[in-house]
Amino acid sequence: MTATTTDWHQRAADLRPEWRAFINGEYVAALSGRTFASVNPATGKTIAHIAACDAADVDVAVAAARKAFDARVWTGQTPSARKAVMLKWADLIRANLHELALLETLDNGKPIKESLAVDVPSCAAGIQWYAECIDKLYDEVAPNGDGSLVLVTREPVGVVGAIVPWNYPLIIASWKLGPALASGNSVILKPAEQTSLSALRLAALAKEAGLPDGVLSVVPGLGHEAGAALGLHPDVDAIAFTGSTAVGRKYLEYSAQSNLKRVGLELGGKSPHIITANCDLDKAAMYAAYAIWYNQGETCNAGSRLLVERSVQAEFIEKLRPWACRLVPGDPLDATTEMGALISREHCERVLSYVALGQSEGAALLMGGQRQRSESGGWFVGPTVLGDVTNSMRVAREEIFGPVVVMIGFDTLDEAITIANDSDYGLAAALWCRDITQAHRAARRLRAGTVWINAYDHTSINAPFGGYKQSGHGRDKSLHAFSKYTELKTTWVELQ
Ligand code: NAD
Repeated sequence: MTATTTDWHQRAADLRPEWRAFINGEYVAALSGRTFASVNPATGKTIAHIAACDAADVDVAVAAARKAFDARVWTGQTPSARKAVMLKWADLIRANLHELALLETLDNGKPIKESLAVDVPSCAAGIQWYAECIDKLYDEVAPNGDGSLVLVTREPVGVVGAIVPWNYPLIIASWKLGPALASGNSVILKPAEQTSLSALRLAALAKEAGLPDGVLSVVPGLGHEAGAALGLHPDVDAIAFTGSTAVGRKYLEYSAQSNLKRVGLELGGKSPHIITANCDLDKAAMYAAYAIWYNQGETCNAGSRLLVERSVQAEFIEKLRPWACRLVPGDPLDATTEMGALISREHCERVLSYVALGQSEGAALLMGGQRQRSESGGWFVGPTVLGDVTNSMRVAREEIFGPVVVMIGFDTLDEAITIANDSDYGLAAALWCRDITQAHRAARRLRAGTVWINAYDHTSINAPFGGYKQSGHGRDKSLHAFSKYTELKTTWVELQ
């Protein structure tokens, strides 16, 4: 039987989430005893006081990770044994769907409907996909004639620090943990301080599945404390970071200041969504709506710059309006809600300040732009459209990371591509056009890690994801993600 809103509220009231760090196979308070509040953004109420790990706790987690790695308790197991553990972990994630979905929704403010249908299943699917890779990837033999045998093998880098943001806590964690653990590393996961709860539960499920102690630790904490400690640690071999471009830059500095650890960066975006007159405008409007308003606009690859051919701009705005009306922010624990709360008061104020900034720059507020449901104590903003925007305005250049789309006009496809590429970011782009030759030529010219033609945000774990330019480097998802977590070793055996 499907749970009602009342059921979800009751479950939330009964929940006693784990607040301690998970280090070396057990839950522990921070050594300093300090905690920080995890707040439900839909109510403004504190859910739990979370262990505030700092450099001392990170030292303990790194020492345990190194010991497990050197003892080969994980990487030394047979591929089929490691695969079995990770597959069991994926099963346990699915078996705990309701609890994990509730934790995700309470912590993040996203609709329970999405946590149930997307976040938890995608996390399990990601872990499963990488588990299945473990005994299917072969190494190489370099062709060097009869006199030698030259093996080119991939080996785990060692100890990996994974630092993730708050917008898709479980999904993005699985994009790091899947390939990092599948390739035999030890991993220390630092969740965003706004959303630690699901990561802490995930770690216990990994242990239940049979992952040896020390191989996966979770150190919740503030970015400039726990995050910086991982980035600067001399015994961490690699960082896999997803978050803002500003903080990504810091991880490069941490690396330079410490041991030159490798740093993979999945950063922000300001992705162009190009609508030509020669497309299915009804379908494009639906996609344009979800491209920016899904997950309250808190999506790195959101279609936040809507480039619309001038001849159909007025018509397109009217086609977008019903979707904006449909996506009314509501109680995230109501199973019918499609738009939840923004992550925090600070973030809500930041989003609204961009709406005001856009208007002061000359943009027209066409829809939304106000705080809603303030009586709930939460931080809700509905679908918002700024029209009459030019690409030089700050609202067109900076990532707002909320449900705010800026609309920019163009007359030719060439002009649209120039505008699309005129950005510091290059995470994703999309083009709606019935002429597939023209669309394909345009796709080649768009400087972005993913380009959709006649779609937006279609995705699969087997397709790489990541950015050009200041959207980062390296790729999550797909077999290409293994490059982040493995070293290439050449073993030259002389046969003569
Ligand atoms: P953020 O950069 O503020 O935080 C990300 C992580 O970095 C958190 O765990 C945080 O605690 C940590 N951190 C913050 N300050 C730090 C510091 N001084 N030193 C070390 N660590 C620090 O990002 P956010 O607000 O959590 O997430 C939103 C951002 O993430 C957006 O820019 C979004 O585009 C980006 N994002 C990118 C992708 C992608 O795959 N490209 C996916 C999701 C989100």
